[in-house]
Amino acid sequence: MSNVSQNPFAIAQAQLDKAAKLLNLDEGTHQTLREPLRELVVSLPVRMDNGKVKVFKAFRVQYNDARGATKGGIRFHPEETIDTVRALSAWMTWKTAVVDLPLGGGKGGVICNPKEMSQGELERLSRAYIRQVGRILGEKMDCPAPDVYTNAQIMAWMVDEYYWMNGENQFGMITGKPLELGGSVGRHDATARGGVYCVREAAKKLGMDAKTTSYAIQGFGNAGQYAALLHQEILGGGKLVAVSDSRGGIYNPDGLAPKKIVAHKLKTGSVSGFPGAKEISNADLLTLDVDLLYPAALEQVITEANANDIKAKIVCELANGPTTPEADEILHKKGIFVIPDFLANAGGVTVSYFEMVQNQYNYHWDLRTVYERLDKKMTVAFAGVYKMLEDRKSDNLDMRTAAYLVAVERVATAMKLRGWV
Ligand code: GLU
Repeated sequence: MSNVSQNPFAIAQAQLDKAAKLLNLDEGTHQTLREPLRELVVSLPVRMDNGKVKVFKAFRVQYNDARGATKGGIRFHPEETIDTVRALSAWMTWKTAVVDLPLGGGKGGVICNPKEMSQGELERLSRAYIRQVGRILGEKMDCPAPDVYTNAQIMAWMVDEYYWMNGENQFGMITGKPLELGGSVGRHDATARGGVYCVREAAKKLGMDAKTTSYAIQGFGNAGQYAALLHQEILGGGKLVAVSDSRGGIYNPDGLAPKKIVAHKLKTGSVSGFPGAKEISNADLLTLDVDLLYPAALEQVITEANANDIKAKIVCELANGPTTPEADEILHKKGIFVIPDFLANAGGVTVSYFEMVQNQYNYHWDLRTVYERLDKKMTVAFAGVYKMLEDRKSDNLDMRTAAYLVAVERVATAMKLRGWV
């Protein structure tokens, strides 16, 4: 069952409205930023293993490309809706702007349940998506990437289908590809890495010793798994006390070994049942008494209903849209420092951008170069948002609103310079 009770696009628009007011945006600019510039809705007939054709609904939304080609992942999810994709494409617009990439924001989605599909069915679905949506993709137009339940193999099928359509290898049309097909080193853990860099910077500002922090992770997909490992690696310490995934969670106040949990998840498909840990629900994990909480799953897990019980000092949003606006207000009043999604998880799209650059040059960087450049991008972005918070102290902003002010201003300026508004 879906946990989403509010329309995510209404949330994205409400967040923008707040920023527009604080920035005194003129009406035309505000209204242009409230809606996607382009949307494509398609039906994908796919031959299933049982010989029958099943039709999947799919979307691609190009929210705003004033700063450059739209960029953003493709989600394969049974509860995908056009409004979720719209919200996520808006957040991608603010994400690329807040880290100052020369890109806009877009997002794609297919209503499907990949957990119930064979590899062959997934391949045919991925190729069908490109046959339909490929006509509006390209490194100068719109460049997809992996997201919830899509991965490097799916990107490989997609870039290959694009090759058959266009007759040439255009690796820069999609990112998050395998290394053998123009992928970038460091893309696999970039989302979590960028988030932990933000935590490092936040801890400095808050006067916390990051090395001794306790942390919990809700969601154990790509971002959650790497956050478990990288928190300790980058911060030089920290105690992981709980993790969860869609099937349940595990808790041990004495600490859990990240590598062993990842191995257990790979073997059994879930973190649940990990030896030596107590079982804990996703809901209870969120309200544990920890220094750091990483929501790393889906939207709307921190809501009006549980925000008052959140005890973490820092919430680092690796997922997109995990906190509702009502919860935001409560967390802010409680003095909890939220590193907002479109800043906290911008590491993924930043290395995706590095991948596009490497594809354009047809020359690849080493891992150290990627890490150094990612660190610089994230550190500068965090500092810019924090500066906005301090510059507008009298407005008593939270970090999300400060990040919105930075990002929206950049996109608005680009639109103005182009003569759109
Ligand atoms: N899907 C990721 C996100 O939400 C990455 C997007 C990209 O790399 O283009 O940021």
